Amino acid sequence: MSHFPPPQMMYPNAFPPSPQSSSSTMATNSGQYPPVNNNIQQQQYLQQSQPSMMMMNNQQRPPPPSALPHYPQQQFQQGPMNQPHHQQLPSLQVPQHNHSTNTTNQQGMDQITQKMGSMVVNQGWNQMFNRLEAVNLLAEKDIYTKAVQQKHQQQLNNQQQQQQRRDDLNCDKDVMRCTMRKIPETASLLQKSRLPLGILLHPFKDDPNIPVIQETVIVRCRSCRTYINPYVRLLDQRRWQCNLCHRINEVPEEFIYDYHSRQHIDIMTRPELNHGSIEFVASVEYMVRPPQPAIYLFVFECTASAIQLGYIRNFANALLSSLDQIPGDSRTLIGFIAFDSKLHFFNLNDDRPVHMVMPDIYDIFLPHADCLLVKFHSSRDKIEYFLRETLPNFPCNPNDDPSKIVADHQSALGPALQVAFKLISPTGGRITLIQTSLPSAGNLSDGCVLQNREDPNQRTINSNQSNQALTPLLNPATDFFKKLSLECCEHQVTVDLFNLSPSFSDLATVAAISKYSGGSIKYYGSCGGGGGGTGTSNPSAINTMLIRFEEDMKHYLTRSIGFEAVMRLRSTR
Ligand SMILES: [Zn+2]
Repeated sequence: MSHFPPPQMMYPNAFPPSPQSSSSTMATNSGQYPPVNNNIQQQQYLQQSQPSMMMMNNQQRPPPPSALPHYPQQQFQQGPMNQPHHQQLPSLQVPQHNHSTNTTNQQGMDQITQKMGSMVVNQGWNQMFNRLEAVNLLAEKDIYTKAVQQKHQQQLNNQQQQQQRRDDLNCDKDVMRCTMRKIPETASLLQKSRLPLGILLHPFKDDPNIPVIQETVIVRCRSCRTYINPYVRLLDQRRWQCNLCHRINEVPEEFIYDYHSRQHIDIMTRPELNHGSIEFVASVEYMVRPPQPAIYLFVFECTASAIQLGYIRNFANALLSSLDQIPGDSRTLIGFIAFDSKLHFFNLNDDRPVHMVMPDIYDIFLPHADCLLVKFHSSRDKIEYFLRETLPNFPCNPNDDPSKIVADHQSALGPALQVAFKLISPTGGRITLIQTSLPSAGNLSDGCVLQNREDPNQRTINSNQSNQALTPLLNPATDFFKKLSLECCEHQVTVDLFNLSPSFSDLATVAAISKYSGGSIKYYGSCGGGGGGTGTSNPSAINTMLIRFEEDMKHYLTRSIGFEAVMRLRSTR
């Protein structure tokens, strides 16, 4: 009893002891804990707690203080009640031998014996409390709470690790997500649910957690072309079973052999078998043709509506500040086409930009087709001059008086798109279309001239009758833009639409040009204080809209893009 410190002075900083081993000690200590600074009460408490300690020591003896590596001896010697216990601590007794032995051997034997003795006791202590760590109970009052908190924290960490593992095995929900959690078994069930079944894809996520596979070997099922994934069945190191069609495939040698280090690698460490989302660098077999240069063609409106808005200056600013970050290599090309009732081309190959006007929009052709697109890097200074000097004042020349410019209210948006498509269709590329008014010039037979279908009086009346009258506005008036869009899609051309029109511009019809060519649509009409098709606008709202447009344009110009893509989705039946 006197060989060991009192239990209220020492306690493992882990889990409480089991009820079978020392339930009475725990009840005494936790229920009648004495105040630290009252010596009289401490002495009384010691006397009261003696029987409990006896029970504990008879069942499981804790180790002596010398065997505890982290025993707080300094604190142990400070309290007056602890002093006798400390003085009575003996060293472990080693049996005395009668025959003479070497002193060094004797010391070694002592150490070994002491260590072995402490090991046995420590193991018992560890079994009892899971962990060996001495704690001053007089100073640590909330030891039980701390132990429970540690246990909960450990459980939480384990759960998070398991969840992380599950997340790795599944596809990243930010990259690909299904609209339904459970797929209906039959088409009729899907119809009854009245929920849309689709998949949202986010390519070019730029997520650093998605592994990128640089090797040329892409392991796929020979029957259904499924990529090897965490859910296939590995029969051994050389064979795997497809989880979609159950065909047994062979693992190619390159998949489990690292040619750089000349060593075989464990197949279970391959990222394809540990991640639901993988990026492969596509090899030549996956390309229809060699990668084409990045081509950016800006088609923007310069009608009276555009001049009144004043967006061209914001557009030029956004482009000028983003020139360093526009994606592309040394082959990148850039060009500009403007339109009102005529088409305006810019030759940026000369020392100073040359402005060409095409009044005939019914029989369009490309003037100086070789000069309309310039190399972005080699003509950088000319492009900067154009953006800084020419574009902000367009359609005025720097020397002209703006008040003498006759505003053009007609918008030949359809012919402008046709000529832009003609310009970049041989290689493919991106057309950025900025629209500020309703398309009103061009061939009537083509369907590129749109009428104002909205009756402003119907908008203010909130009734079923007016809703029925407005419903046709949600459908396109003509299919000109859809047809052109599908042609664009065939030639790897995409059209992104920025609609800044404060009045009715028939977005339902024009938006088809982006919808079917894989482009994006940015609509600012409601932000510009549009007066419900009446054309009235609020100057401060327009200013806010233009700032937002400029910021959006900067992001749009500098974000990652892809110019050619093929999407295939494979699933089980
Ligand atoms: Zn398969």
